[in-house]
Amino acid sequence: MKDKQFINPYNFVTLDKKCAKNINLLENKADDRLTGYIECELENLTELFIPEISENEKNEGHQKFHFITKDGKPYIPGSSLRGVIRSVFETITNSCLVTADDDSYFHKRYSDPSKPGFIVKEGNKYYLYKNLNNNLKNVDKNKVGNLQDLSRVSKRQDGTLRFDPNSNDILVKGEENFQKKSYKLFTLIGDKLTELSQSDIARLKEVLLLYADKSLNKAKGHKHYKTYWDALKKLERSNGGKDSYLPVYYKYINGVYYLSPACITREVFNNTLKQLLKLNGGYDPCDNIKALCPACSLFGTTNLTKNEENITAIGSRVRFTDAHIETTGDYFLPMAPLKELSGPKLSSVEFYLFKPEVNAKYDAYNYDYIFTWDEGKNKQTKTALNVPYVPRLRGRKYYWHHIDFKYEDAYVPLDEEERETKRNISAELLKRHNKFTFRVYFDDVTKTELTNLIYALDFDNPNIDKNSYFCHPRAHKIGMGKPLGLGSCLITIKSINVREIGIVDGKLVYEIKQLDRKSFPKLEFEKNESLRELFELASYIDTSSNDKMAQRRKGYKVTYPFVYPNRPVKPEEKKKLLNDLASHQWFRLNRGGGIKEYIKLTLPKVGFSNYNNIPPIHLNAIEQNIDKDNNKNNQQKQKNNLRSNQYKK
Ligand SMILES: [Zn+2]
Repeated sequence: MKDKQFINPYNFVTLDKKCAKNINLLENKADDRLTGYIECELENLTELFIPEISENEKNEGHQKFHFITKDGKPYIPGSSLRGVIRSVFETITNSCLVTADDDSYFHKRYSDPSKPGFIVKEGNKYYLYKNLNNNLKNVDKNKVGNLQDLSRVSKRQDGTLRFDPNSNDILVKGEENFQKKSYKLFTLIGDKLTELSQSDIARLKEVLLLYADKSLNKAKGHKHYKTYWDALKKLERSNGGKDSYLPVYYKYINGVYYLSPACITREVFNNTLKQLLKLNGGYDPCDNIKALCPACSLFGTTNLTKNEENITAIGSRVRFTDAHIETTGDYFLPMAPLKELSGPKLSSVEFYLFKPEVNAKYDAYNYDYIFTWDEGKNKQTKTALNVPYVPRLRGRKYYWHHIDFKYEDAYVPLDEEERETKRNISAELLKRHNKFTFRVYFDDVTKTELTNLIYALDFDNPNIDKNSYFCHPRAHKIGMGKPLGLGSCLITIKSINVREIGIVDGKLVYEIKQLDRKSFPKLEFEKNESLRELFELASYIDTSSNDKMAQRRKGYKVTYPFVYPNRPVKPEEKKKLLNDLASHQWFRLNRGGGIKEYIKLTLPKVGFSNYNNIPPIHLNAIEQNIDKDNNKNNQQKQKNNLRSNQYKK
């Protein structure tokens, strides 16, 4: 059975109720301060991959990367270490999520149609109007000739269209595809619906950029909605006149307008990651020098706004050196193609959000609203629940260490027909069990800051209680290929050195004094839900272990969600079924497999409160009926053939 179950490569550490933004750097510092360095050793427990990125390796096809080296030896850049240690430090100290410092939008594609309307600029303001002919007029593609998208047009006697600057009809061609038989005619101008905000327009631009991105992956050039993009730019510059009208599709859901150049489209949500972090307890990146989290205060930040002192950035009081390799010998495995790595799929709300807890039935949810699908076969309309809803983010993302990891499993299997594509890369991996040393310099830090820094480096491994549930050493994940199992690294503190000022022969001298690692208290994590989850996720479990934590994970492969075919696949079918058996199909089937999505399984939580009742953290793979889907594909193909034959006539 376990072969049809899996553990998702990443999971989350739950955010606390409120972020600890309680440090005022403008206040006098009362504590004694420490300056010095920590000497660390790092061992990579699994193969490690930190690519050497050189300018001339940028090409469109399959890329190959060597491990980064200096003077012919592999090393780990200090910046890589710093990023990893900062994010553990953030978790341990209940700090903000500084990596979330962008206004990137969440978005998701839905099948319910939008309504036709117009954006109109009047003075400096934007308004949304209805389209005058509520049901758009269709116009046969063959009657359009060479007319440009968004042209004003009128009909000739024979039904063909001609350019007519004085007409109220605007031709909307939309995205070209060979199945499209007709274009739409929008007609100026119905009732005024609302004033649009700058954020509404910004989200419309994001929709256009998403289409452009997609086309960049497929073919060179930014074709998709280029005309529309240009028209929107003209609208922004316009002061009345014909450039101040632009056809648009819109949806209105729970007080938010979703604009798009197409009828069926992606919705770009009103809530951004930063806003949701703010709503989830103030975990958005710190921006106030009088209310900083421990991580921003120690590691620095460049996000500051609104202070009288005009200080916009705080420097770091910690500095990481590169990690130099101490071992010698044959460092690398031969260059080989890695399995494809997928980027974060934030539209997978079943993994990135908690299931909403509301007293009403619903089918699905997203970053803005909870909804049901309307009954009736042919209707594809969503109805948003009219309930207060603050989407709850799952928290801080961490990758599991694999149990019994074999590096061959990170490579594309040898029997795969096409092993090197432009979607995957080839990598030269550093063999496991190499040892590195590095230093972390700290400057003017409090004892608490130093203590937390030590925990972030070695996860308090020296204080592990072998008889507890948390009996395994905790390790970091460094470099690329984390979902595949690469980059598990154990950090051990070798010495803690503090500079002391003394007076010898009447002169000021610096002395280095060593602090004993054992003199630092044990990190009390047992009663802290977030820390327990962090320690669960960071635990590196030996193959031979069979304790409770190990039992929770052993036997399950750590892999992206997968589907399995309903019957054995013949070798010659493999290529044809590549898409049918791809990872994203798990999400499609988990949402019911149809056009209307109904979210079923969600990512299990790592945490638990009762040692006798530890919930599972694995998910089930889903069976995919490859015969049924093939029939559907064939039917679609036949339809398309029919259509293209019609065009030939
Ligand atoms: Zn912060």
